[in-house]
Amino acid sequence: MNPALLKLDLYCKGARLDDTCFVEQDGGRRVLRTRAGLGSGLEVILPGGLWTNIPVAEPFAQKSPYSIHREAGQYRLRRRGRDVAALALSPRPEWYDRTSSTGKPMTRIGTLQGTYLGVYPAKVCEYWTQKPQKENCKFCSVGLNLGVDDADEKSVDEVLEVARAARRESGITYVDFNTGHYGGDTYLDILEPYVTRIKRELGLLVGIQTPPHRNLKRYDALREMGVNRVSFCFEIFDPETFRAICPGKHREYGLDYYLEAVRYCAALGRKGPRHEPWVTNGEIIAGLEPPESSIKAIDWITSVGAIPTVCVFRPLVGTDLEDASPPKTEEMVPIFRRLYEACMEKGLPIGCAPNVHVSLVLLPEECRYLSPRRFPWRTLKLKAMAKALRFSLGRRFAAAPTAAEVAR
Ligand code: SF4
Repeated sequence: MNPALLKLDLYCKGARLDDTCFVEQDGGRRVLRTRAGLGSGLEVILPGGLWTNIPVAEPFAQKSPYSIHREAGQYRLRRRGRDVAALALSPRPEWYDRTSSTGKPMTRIGTLQGTYLGVYPAKVCEYWTQKPQKENCKFCSVGLNLGVDDADEKSVDEVLEVARAARRESGITYVDFNTGHYGGDTYLDILEPYVTRIKRELGLLVGIQTPPHRNLKRYDALREMGVNRVSFCFEIFDPETFRAICPGKHREYGLDYYLEAVRYCAALGRKGPRHEPWVTNGEIIAGLEPPESSIKAIDWITSVGAIPTVCVFRPLVGTDLEDASPPKTEEMVPIFRRLYEACMEKGLPIGCAPNVHVSLVLLPEECRYLSPRRFPWRTLKLKAMAKALRFSLGRRFAAAPTAAEVAR
């Protein structure tokens, strides 16, 4: 029973949902085609407290050896019919069933991904609407999602209302904003008003995931503003595969510029404000290039002081790669083992943010279950950092004004 291996194996194989399962009636979350192009599955918590998103809607999941059953009111995972583990459904908060004061279902403004709030605040990524030919990334489902499970435009007030409900009722500590590409590099201009209000009124940790702005000085301003995480999804480290899978990103920015943005932002950690933690992520998708190339990406990202986010490729229904096969678990294990070891070797701050459980990726700290190596001093240091951050955020949340105080 290795929880990281189970999480990984389920990403690669998916699971069949048995007819005995009534996820929503049992307090679970509806399967949503979420943003970022890789989420489409059932949100559950595995043994060991690992939150995950199990593919259940794709054809490959229908052939999986895993199946999920409900027995005596409890959800169980079986493999080839044999009981493997108990599963807990990720709880669906009450606010999931409410509308905002503007009348939109709150889940069309933001959704929980694990235990943080994910918001895709603007119109669809322009690679999807490019003329004469679309230039979307081949694995991406964002252009299929918007307007289905997600509202097209979300005002700052609407997002604040949902973030406040998620803070109060779900105990979130972190809000993640995600945009695609917009001509004129407007994505940071779009996000800044949301960030400013969330930092001022809720004191939450905030991260943004956008293309790399052409003026890298803009990230100095975000750092000053109190943003805690910037993430750049270059997806693929092999230049030829990058060009084939991400034609829009290749034409607009190019792989080298993505890497330059990762390097630049990672160096901003040394600047203030000191009370705001800062991490830079380089995000890749394992399973779309050879494992050695993914490992090279991990080594490069960590060498500049950034933390890799490694997704597992999921051939989502309706995407250009829907007929591709998901990766094999045994090919993924060395990648995720290296993820943990490289982060620990470089002393990067992994696993420090309180109550941030991520369902769509296997986190670096979760990958410790895949490595025989232990890093006792660094582990102690990380625990101390986590404690200090929990303390400082606790004070900040306690001092945040209520909605009524803000309205006055
Ligand atoms: S940049 Fe690529 S992955 Fe991101 S939303 Fe656009 S098409 Fe999808």
